[in-house]
Amino acid sequence: ETSAHISADENGAADMMDPNAGPAVEMRGVNKWFGEFHVLRDINLNVRRGERIVVCGPSGSGKSTMIRCINRLEEHQKGDIIVDGIELTNDLKKIDEIRREVGMVFQHFNLFPHLTILENCTLAPIWVRKMPKREAEEAAMHYLERVKIPEQANKYPGQLSGGQQQRVAIARALCMNPRIMLFDEPTSALDPEMIKEVLDVMVDLAKSGMTMLVVTHEMGFARQVANRVIFMDAGQIVEQNEPEQFFTNPQHDRTKLFLSQIL
Ligand code: ADP
Ligand code: MG
Repeated sequence: ETSAHISADENGAADMMDPNAGPAVEMRGVNKWFGEFHVLRDINLNVRRGERIVVCGPSGSGKSTMIRCINRLEEHQKGDIIVDGIELTNDLKKIDEIRREVGMVFQHFNLFPHLTILENCTLAPIWVRKMPKREAEEAAMHYLERVKIPEQANKYPGQLSGGQQQRVAIARALCMNPRIMLFDEPTSALDPEMIKEVLDVMVDLAKSGMTMLVVTHEMGFARQVANRVIFMDAGQIVEQNEPEQFFTNPQHDRTKLFLSQIL
């Protein structure tokens, strides 16, 4: 089984001088099992700062598990994961540090239904970051404006459409000032007419220079913003390439089959 991963050397010598220029995320030989089931097999992945990576692959191939390992929503059993220069171990302090750097957006929004939109956005900054309430609210309004729904601030999630709720989820993640954003199929629970408003926000975020790792089958989004597309199957990274090459010239039969099914 070949895996055409991009090697760590690509970061170049200049980057080694500046700790900030090291990889945003590094996974080396990462393996994970659910009981007997070998869900991640020797994952090697280097996410450089400012990179926008789209991860695709069949259902059950391990995409969610892979990105959930990055902020320890899932625990890997073998190999190394280094996030923003911090090695992910069982050290809870380090896990907390990593979670401060990494924002996550899920398929099903995961907003708190009993809190207003504004409260959803200020909860973690106030309680985790110890930010004064006033300051947290100002920051939240700034991000709600950025995702174009400041007027919804005092409503509850149940009063918003799916697309609006997902934009709130993005704003909420941004309120923690992350350096890396993970998205797990952010548009796949949305009605078709709401997909674009969420993708537009993600495109804006990409243009702002955010490091993004996005599990999605929105291939238009991949072509527009990704600098790299990764194809996973059966717990492995089978193939990766820049979008144009990935779509027009896939190398592996499994990639070809997958693309023929979704395009
Ligand atoms: P994808 O996101 O690519 O659809 P997942 O990472 O969600 O794939 O799942 C990969 C495989 O791991 C699937 O076969 C799934 O059933 C299995 N799996 C996921 N989560 C668990 C879990 N908590 N316990 C056991 N098996 C799991
Ligand atoms: Mg998934």
